Amino acid sequence: MSILIKDSIIVTQNVSNEIIRGDIYIEDNKIVEIGKINIEADFVIRNRIVIPGLINMHTHLPMTLLRGYGDDLPLEEWLTTRIWPIEAKLKAEHIAIGTKLAFMEMVRSGTTCCNDMYFFEDVIANEAKKFGIRCYAGFSLIDFDTPEMKRECLPSECENFIKKWKNDELVEPVVAPHSTYACSPETLQKAKEIAEKYNCFIHIHCSETRYEVYDVLNKYGKRPLQQIKDNGLLTEKTMLAHCGWITKEEVKEIALANACVIHNPVSNMKLATGGYTPLPELMEANAIITLGTDGAASNNKLDMFETMKFTALIHKHHRWDASIVKAQEVLDMATVNPAGFLELNAGCIEEGKLADIVCIDYKAPNLTPLHNVISHLVYAMDAHNVSDVIINGKLILHERKFLNIDEEKVYEEAEKAKEDLLSE
Ligand SMILES: [Zn+2]
Repeated sequence: MSILIKDSIIVTQNVSNEIIRGDIYIEDNKIVEIGKINIEADFVIRNRIVIPGLINMHTHLPMTLLRGYGDDLPLEEWLTTRIWPIEAKLKAEHIAIGTKLAFMEMVRSGTTCCNDMYFFEDVIANEAKKFGIRCYAGFSLIDFDTPEMKRECLPSECENFIKKWKNDELVEPVVAPHSTYACSPETLQKAKEIAEKYNCFIHIHCSETRYEVYDVLNKYGKRPLQQIKDNGLLTEKTMLAHCGWITKEEVKEIALANACVIHNPVSNMKLATGGYTPLPELMEANAIITLGTDGAASNNKLDMFETMKFTALIHKHHRWDASIVKAQEVLDMATVNPAGFLELNAGCIEEGKLADIVCIDYKAPNLTPLHNVISHLVYAMDAHNVSDVIINGKLILHERKFLNIDEEKVYEEAEKAKEDLLSE
């Protein structure tokens, strides 16, 4: 497939953060040329703002099926009375439907790559491949039976999963020990062993709530990050979701380890976790900061434009300083920062990079007049402004329509899945 994007405003996100007017030519899965281009192509797109595809670094894809099921509850009550009972009923077919919904929502809101953590990860990986989206698929390790299998099978199945997906073009297997409160030191060490053996990334929840910090402190005599470190999991391959309740010392430790922080401001605010991921301090320490939505049950959207806006807003408001986190820095957290960490040849628009690209129709009331593109992307964008999405050189969304999936069918299946999960 070849795609030509003409007469557009290209937000390159290259090292100089250049914004250029011009054309982009894409062939196979790469950006071949940027400039003034006259060439025939299978698809021609015109007059857009063009940005690198956004990267959602923390989500639980199939939880789209639980969106709006149990809102406005404290976290522990939400988990124990609403989420866990219904999760126990999940079967592979529900996972497939919830995952498709998640991909549709993410692509419509400009996301081309996600970092997931859930059960039935092989089903999720298969759906990613079919849909054509880039997915870091986290196989969960946890100390209880999952809806999919007995806990004692998890490590060996995790290895099988890694072997199956290790060299895939779109899916990258990730080892995902759930957290220090749901994983014993033995499970954490097993996760480390597997990640090392196959050179995999590690995805773990860390210090999301104050309750969690004290729970782990009471059980093991140390805070979650220390527990992660002492079990060999604080490495340059580790992705730490949340970090809402970390100390200044822990900020330094994370930066020193070159681990990656995943900030999920919308989910944190909705679940009222209270902690503010210390973004200014993490930036000061040169830590790698990225963004995620978390699952749709605690957000309730998978919209990275919204997450970028909340990221900027929460810290400005909290610190009484409107300049503390700037729009450009936030955009970096959703593009170049995660791509750099993941060693993914994307996250910016340059010749030779993978063609993971989002086109925005800026002839819209919320984007007119166009004073500052970066400001609009972070503070004014809506998912409905996204017109075309290209992943790995393939056009997935064209003129707001999916080319790869029967949208109506997915909605029908999702309603059926809801009925199924709510029935006894
Ligand atoms: Zn999470």
